[in-house]
Amino acid sequence: MILLRGVEIRNNKRENLKIQIETIKNKKIDSFIPPVLVIFQIGDNKASGVYIEQKKQFAAYIGAEVLHIKLPDDIEEEEVLEEIRNYNNDSSVHGIIVQLPIPKNLSVHNITNEIDYRKDVDGLSSTSLGLLVDRDFNEKKNSESKIVDDDFRKSVFKGFIPATTKGVLSLFEYYDIELEGKNVCIVGRSVLVGKPTALVILAKNATITVCHSKTKNLKDITKAADIIISAIGVPNMIDESYVSLGQTIIDIGIVSREEKNENGESVRKLCGDVAFDEVSKIVNAITPVPGGVGPLTVASLFENLFESFYNTLL
Ligand code: NAP
Repeated sequence: MILLRGVEIRNNKRENLKIQIETIKNKKIDSFIPPVLVIFQIGDNKASGVYIEQKKQFAAYIGAEVLHIKLPDDIEEEEVLEEIRNYNNDSSVHGIIVQLPIPKNLSVHNITNEIDYRKDVDGLSSTSLGLLVDRDFNEKKNSESKIVDDDFRKSVFKGFIPATTKGVLSLFEYYDIELEGKNVCIVGRSVLVGKPTALVILAKNATITVCHSKTKNLKDITKAADIIISAIGVPNMIDESYVSLGQTIIDIGIVSREEKNENGESVRKLCGDVAFDEVSKIVNAITPVPGGVGPLTVASLFENLFESFYNTLL
């Protein structure tokens, strides 16, 4: 069984971003402005606080800056939109994200769509997702060609791949897992994870089945797949009865829940969608939780931020 660990890939990505930012800084000693990410946090969700802290630490390591804007949970939607517009127009800001979830009285759709798509480094606006539908995933071949220069790179900017999807893609690339012709079952159809991941994997020439809470005979579908990608947020639901020999399992789910340790004490533990202990005995390759997709999501966000920053230098 191969353990698909994201930590080492994350570390490589982080080091690479740090070096690239340092190189640009050394070239532009007098006029250097670092990559700047604005994070809006609306309300006081505890898990959001933890995720934002991880992003701040990553930014500090690579030499980027995070502006953490806290807004009260009773804020009017128009005020949030106005804040976003201000940063859209601020040329020293390269990326804007809204940490989800947000209070129920606000529309995720309206708020994410207010972000300028060139700064939408989470890739969740309708424009970014629309661009994903159209995206040419053979661009890697293009970028190896001699005709590619910075003007070309700027002109082919096609929006950002949502961070979690991009992280999943980098796992496949790093572990050399072929997607072409494979049957991939994605469980979960959210705009945040399931749908963009389906689009990207489809563009990589896999055959996709997207499942959700209304799917009938889910186990039959997951068992028949070559690769299962689960993003449902139901701890340990994908157990041995959902999988078969030789499969690759990507567990995106992360839920923090209380469990008893061996001394009977309550401890908080991060749990994936997949019952790791039993499933890992059957399948060929599997991501752990934590330490699988999670670290790659943060790294991918900052790769998008760097791309946005780099585009402003061209
Ligand atoms: P979400 O918006 O709640 O979507 C969950 C999806 O799972 C929905 O499509 C839902 O179906 C489906 N679902 C729920 N219960 C199901 C069941 N019993 N059988 C089949 N499908 C079921 O969640 P999300 O934002 O996509 O996040 C999903 C999980 O990924 C969460 O644990 C989240 O914390 C985690 N996550 C991790 C990362 C990371 O970096 N690793 C990043 C983002 C999210 P319906 O559409 O029919 O309701």
